[in-house]
Amino acid sequence: MSEQPDDAELAEFRKRAAAWIAANRPADPGFKLPQTFLEVESKRQFEFLRQWQARLYAAGLLGFDVPREYGGQGVSPAKKQIVSELCSEHQTPFMVNLIALQWAGPTILAYGTEEQKKRDIPRILSADDIWCQGFSEPEAGSDLASLATRAQRTQDGYLVTGHKVWTTLAHFAQHMILLARTDPDAHKYQGLSYFLFPMGSQGVTIQPLTKMTGEGGFNQVIFDDAPMPADCILGSEGQGWQIAMSTLMLERGAAEQSARHRTASLFAQLNRIVELARATPRVGRRAIDDPVIADRIAQLTIEAHAIAYGAVRGEVPSLNQERPMALPLMNKIVSSEWNQRLTDLACDILGPAAALWVDDPNAPDGGMWPRAFMNSFGMTIGGGTSQILRNIIGERVLGLPKSK
Ligand SMILES: Cc1cc2nc3c(=O)[nH]c(=O)nc-3n(C[C@H](O)[C@H](O)[C@H](O)COP(=O)(O)OP(=O)(O)OC[C@H]3O[C@@H](n4cnc5c(N)ncnc54)[C@H](O)[C@@H]3O)c2cc1C
Repeated sequence: MSEQPDDAELAEFRKRAAAWIAANRPADPGFKLPQTFLEVESKRQFEFLRQWQARLYAAGLLGFDVPREYGGQGVSPAKKQIVSELCSEHQTPFMVNLIALQWAGPTILAYGTEEQKKRDIPRILSADDIWCQGFSEPEAGSDLASLATRAQRTQDGYLVTGHKVWTTLAHFAQHMILLARTDPDAHKYQGLSYFLFPMGSQGVTIQPLTKMTGEGGFNQVIFDDAPMPADCILGSEGQGWQIAMSTLMLERGAAEQSARHRTASLFAQLNRIVELARATPRVGRRAIDDPVIADRIAQLTIEAHAIAYGAVRGEVPSLNQERPMALPLMNKIVSSEWNQRLTDLACDILGPAAALWVDDPNAPDGGMWPRAFMNSFGMTIGGGTSQILRNIIGERVLGLPKSK
């Protein structure tokens, strides 16, 4: 049930939240921080981020999409939006437990038993338990339903055997949302079940994978007869595909933040690139005076306005009733591809200086642009590649014939 505070209460809340965030925003820790939750590599990065989430929650500023009986602040989208805007304004660290906050937790709220909700949701909010997502496998990414990891029934639970890959945050996680095959003889969609897997189980090996930036954050997870109690199942056996689709919809929609938040972050990035183009010399003049650079910035500005208006349209119920996921899916595609072109342009503006990496004292803007450019490719892959999302929009929104 959504709580709808009046304007006076919201104004008072904004004042209180702004004061708390301004006073408690963590200082620069003096070591390299990850740009997103996908690159949390070291223990000190993780602890820094975990503590920030825990403090935000303890201050009553996190969990406005969770009912009070599960540790939330009561469902108030308006308050959630205010905190999100203030965090963006004050450039606070991101929420490290994002997988749990944005898609594992809401899936548990939708399908979990009372016991699962009461046990897991408060610890997700407080960042006491970190969650990772075990869907992808070496031979099952876009075609997720062909996954081979088995969860075999035993007397008191299941034994898991298989191999998950690209598992963000597995090295810090206490739990995994795990999609595994419980019935190998059933049709590939019907044979799957969804589990809340305890990562501390025996028979689990977590191996780090290095990205092209040289950073970690990804892992592969190998299960060798790893035991799991029977009450780890979410929903019922065979319901895994249906639940996984809900999770993926939440994951894809997570790119669709509030319209104002999205607009603020798009234009903040544009401002930074304009500053960069003003500050960078290019054959005897400023890069911004090069008509090709100016034209590319203008094009990105036009697209940023289109994305921002798309986000506003996503908040108008009457425009979204028939196909609620159409706008979020489109937004995920266009904003991730926009981000790739923006960071590509930044590297072009920098020229040879784009080769200076984060640790180099001469790297412009602390080396953030080449790092962001490399990281931008993951955004067009994770949660469903741009090609797959275009297929979904073509088939389910535009009604085009199925690709296969
Ligand atoms: C940053 C990042 C974080 C991730 N985090 C996680 C995580 O925490 N947990 C997890 O389970 N997974 C995670 N993943 C994995 C991600 O979900 C998969 O990479 C993604 O689903 C694509 O699968 P794949 O890599 O196997 O590529 P493939 O499925 O092998 O695709 C290869 C190429 O073929 C194209 N393609 C495939 N099928 C079609 C088709 N039918 N039509 C058109 N083109 C097609 C794809 O678009 C892609 O370009 C993450 C990935 C990234 C990049």
